[in-house]
Amino acid sequence: MKTLNKAPVPLEKLSKKICRSLKGIFSDIDDTLTHHGKLNESSYRALWSLQRAGLRVIPVTGRPAGWVDHLARMWPVDAVIGENGAFYFYLDPSQGRDGKLLQHFVQPKAERAKNREKLWEVFHHLAKEMPGLQVASDQGYREIDLAVDFCEDVPRRSEAEVDQIVAAFARAGAQAKISSIHVNAWFGSHDKYSCCKLLLKNLYNEDFAAERERYLYFGDSPNDEPLFREFPFTVGVANVKHFLPRMRHQPTFITRKEGGDGFAEAVRWILKQRGA
Ligand SMILES: [Mg+2]
Repeated sequence: MKTLNKAPVPLEKLSKKICRSLKGIFSDIDDTLTHHGKLNESSYRALWSLQRAGLRVIPVTGRPAGWVDHLARMWPVDAVIGENGAFYFYLDPSQGRDGKLLQHFVQPKAERAKNREKLWEVFHHLAKEMPGLQVASDQGYREIDLAVDFCEDVPRRSEAEVDQIVAAFARAGAQAKISSIHVNAWFGSHDKYSCCKLLLKNLYNEDFAAERERYLYFGDSPNDEPLFREFPFTVGVANVKHFLPRMRHQPTFITRKEGGDGFAEAVRWILKQRGA
């Protein structure tokens, strides 16, 4: 665990030694691989170049299972963690280029169904108090989370209303996290960090504590803080600077460019240091 409030240093301080010992990277998606909602051409190329260099690539996101299915199948990645650490999907590497999709959920099927029911109960109850309350447009593609929209495809709700949504789920014993567009609620103790550890153990028989210096984590905002805290080496893309004053756990390194272009900048640096 790192010291609080240590400000990030320029990417160029990421040493040759660290770069050469890397086994792979974990990365947030929104505003880290993307910018203004679109996947940058530069970051998509960077993902391919990481894979060509033999490094593991694992995106970590709050996005729904339906999206993760697509990403795990079609992107140049080794696995994808979705819905805030509720599961990871990947193509079976033992089947070469034609690997079948495998899904690992943290919770068994029956428990997921029961939890979904409880979340909907909270939502329906809340919707009576808050007219017009809507779940996110991508709710149909979710397996674990219930996502309440507060500005993506609905008129923006006030901070007090967002707090009211969070409080209702918290009272019911659910976790509730605010992203830039949704309140995501779920039952269970999993989070993105616990799922990164689980994935390393299950897929590579690696212990996070022993191997964490051999992975980099990339992110851009306060919802990446738990990972900025736990990974010893982390990279913030330049847009993270808007949030730094209110972040307790900051990335180790920062890029010059924003979003996916910042990610690509870092990947170029890493591969150059590795002599690739
Ligand atoms: Mg993000």
